[in-house]
This record gives sequence, C-alpha cells and structure tokens, in this order.
Amino acid sequence: MTEETETHFSAARSVLRIVMTSPNPETNPETTTLPAPSLPDIRNETRSTLAHQFSLWNQPGYRLEQLLDWLYCRRVETWDAMTNLPKSLRSQLASVWSLGALSLLRKQGSKDSTQKFLWRLKDGSLIESVLIPANPALYGDSADRHTLCVSTQVGCAYGCRFCASGLDGWKRNLAPWEIVGQILGVERWHAEQNPSEKPTAADKISNHRLINNLVIMGMGEPMANYDNLMMALRSLNAPWGGGIGARKITISTSGLAPKIRQLADEPEQFRLAISLHGATDAVRNQIMPVNRKYPLSELSQACSYYLERKGKMITLEYILIDGVNDAIAEVKPLSDLARRLHAKVNLIPYNTVEGLPWKRPDEARCQKFAETLTRSGVTCTLRLEKGHDIDAACGQLRLKTERELAATSAITGSSIDQPEPES
Ligand code: SAH
Ligand code: SF4
Repeated sequence: MTEETETHFSAARSVLRIVMTSPNPETNPETTTLPAPSLPDIRNETRSTLAHQFSLWNQPGYRLEQLLDWLYCRRVETWDAMTNLPKSLRSQLASVWSLGALSLLRKQGSKDSTQKFLWRLKDGSLIESVLIPANPALYGDSADRHTLCVSTQVGCAYGCRFCASGLDGWKRNLAPWEIVGQILGVERWHAEQNPSEKPTAADKISNHRLINNLVIMGMGEPMANYDNLMMALRSLNAPWGGGIGARKITISTSGLAPKIRQLADEPEQFRLAISLHGATDAVRNQIMPVNRKYPLSELSQACSYYLERKGKMITLEYILIDGVNDAIAEVKPLSDLARRLHAKVNLIPYNTVEGLPWKRPDEARCQKFAETLTRSGVTCTLRLEKGHDIDAACGQLRLKTERELAATSAITGSSIDQPEPES
C-alpha cells in the first residue's frame, strides 16, 4: 500500500464523526412528507439482473450499456435525464425500479482539504461521508483524485467504548444503493461545482472518477452488513459500474472473525484493516465488547487465514488512548502480533468525543510508542495533526446539526457550506 493510502486511512479515521441523531418523523413535518420508497432501487441491481430484464423487454444490448452509463458515469437522478433512452423504456424502468439519490443536508470543509458530507436518507436518518484529497501537493487541482470514507450502517451495534458511532446504538443497515450513492453523490456534487469537467460520451467511467480510493471506515460495522456491502462494492468495482480497483478498496472491521474468513474466500482482492486498539484481551475487552465474542486468538487466526488466502498485507489500526493502551508495555504484544501477521500498524492519536471520558496522549508519548514499535521491526505510521484541529471541525458539524435539528422542526434540504476553522 502506498504512503498516500496510509495518509487516507488515518485522515479518514481522524475526521469522521457521524451524526447519530435523525429528525423525529413524528415531529418533523418535512420527513413525514417524504415519499415512502415503494419500488426497489435500480442501483441495488447487478449487470446480469438488469440484462435479464432487458432481454425480457426485447431491448438491444447497447441499451443496457447506455443505462449503466447514465447510472454510474453520468450519475443522473431522474429517468427523464436519460435522454438517449426511448421514453417507453424509461417508463418501463420507472415501473420496476426507483432511482434514489442521497440528499445533501450539509457540507463542511473547504475545496482544498478534507470535506465532510452529511446526507439525509429517505427515512430521515443521517450519515456522513468524508472526502480526502489524494495528494496535499495537488490541493486545488481539480483533476486530482480522492479517497472517500464511506458509511455502511446508521449507528452501530458494537458499542466500542471510545467511538461516537455506537453511542446511540444501531438503527439499520444501509442498502447497497445507499452505499454506492455516497460515492455518486459526492461526485455529483463535485461535478456541479466544476461544470467544465462534465464527462463526454467518449469518456470511460474509470477515467472520469473523482474518487479512486475507498475506505469503508465510516459509521457502522461493515462486516455486520456484509451482503449489502459486497453487493455495493461489486458494483463500484465492476468495469460496468464504478470501475474502482478492488485493491483501492479497504474494509475496516472491529474484528468479526467469521466474516473475515468469508471475505478471504471471496474472489475479489479487497483490502482488510483491523481496528485492533489493544493487543491483549485485557485491553480489548475493556474498550471493545466484540472481543468477548471473538477474542484475540480467534481474530488472529481469521487474519492468518485471510493472509494465507489473499497474500495481502493487513493493516492493524491502533488508536492511542491516554492511560488505556499507550503504555510502552503494550508495544511488545502489539509487535508480536503484527510480526506474526506480517501486518503494518497505523497508529492514530485518539480524537476526543464529546461526552466520553477518553483522551489522546501527548505528542511525545505517541512518538515514543511509535519509535519503540518501529525499533521492534514493525512498519508503522503515526499521524500527528498539525495546523487546524480536524476533529474539532468534525465535532462542530455533528453538534451544530444536532442542535439545529432539535431546535427547528424543518431544515431545508439545501447544503450548508461551512468554512474550516482557521488554524
Ligand atoms: N466499524 C468499523 C469501521 C468503522 S470505524 C471498525 O471499527 O473498524 C473506523 C475506525 O475509526 C475504527 O478503526 C475505529 O476504531 C476508529 N475510531 C472510532 N472512534 C475514534 C476516535 N474517537 N478517534 C480515532 N479513531 C476512532
Ligand atoms: Fe465504532 Fe467501529 Fe466500534 Fe462500531 S465497530 S462502535 S463503528 S469502532
């Protein structure tokens, strides 16, 4: 994995704070008027299921290519926008499927840096995606590519003690199209800001993607929404869909061992990151309830199986939390595990979450931990934020939105741009 990707990893983790509060449909007139989705969304389909339907309708093969192009390259939101499809076909499509899009409630961050997108789903739930520029040296370069940190659930049932996503529990799984929709929604937003970059008929989908890297590290436990996630990732990976390389897609899990084995048996070469955060059962049990179900011995065996099947290096994510897992004594078990799994370690100083007692260790302590780990022969990265505090910006978005949702019974669906605080 490149250094660039590593930066994305930690940046994604550091900046993504998810809004757990959704407007109450009982009291929010706007959400009560949202139409209930009666038909399945077309972006839940695969090329072959669509091809089957098109053959039943006696449509020539090129019509399917045109449809896929509208869906995944041009990212349209209405059937009528598919101008090269006959009206009769558009009506047939509309009678079988809906064509959903996520509604952008708020966007935070500037064009030159990390940007957070707060989406409102059809049922009023809120989720967040984070767009991270591929290369800081290319800030402002509109031709640049980006990483997107993607959510997979509304809330999370795993309740890791340090994490904001699990604070209010789990609400529901995202459908495949809601996962895919985060990528398309961000790209659509980008295209609207840069109208001169609109794809031409000659463009290949993969040549026209703003996003060429995905980290499945947003709200929710991806492995607990495995089937929907796989369906979404297959569409995003397929040449007929997103065209994003499997090696450019990293799935992060808190440690659902059986699902890690299942992923190892899939044909695709998706990458795997483990949210370890403790290299002993004593530490993990204290902060991650999932460890009681799948203790370290079971987790590491599943990781070894993945390694054996895929031959791909795993990343171990390790948040440094003051007084919990940052003692130098923790380096040895971490180093032993990382070397056994041929894994590299991504050290992330904890980002404080309002209402939770955990703190990040000071910079010197983080550096000492990283140096000791490196000396033990493990490849590791440590991201120390310089300049503005990304986490504060993120916390602001969540708090501001929650406050506003509580204070007003209707917020318009328009995006609200907020500048990053100056460093
Ligand atoms: N559920 C999956 C993916 C989403 S969480 C998982 O746990 O891996 C993505 C990452 O953010 C995880 O590594 C998680 O431990 C980390 N994270 C959660 N809260 C954090 C915080 N306050 N500071 C830094 N990282 C955090
Ligand atoms: Fe947060 Fe991931 Fe734990 Fe869920 S599994 S509570 S998203 S760290």
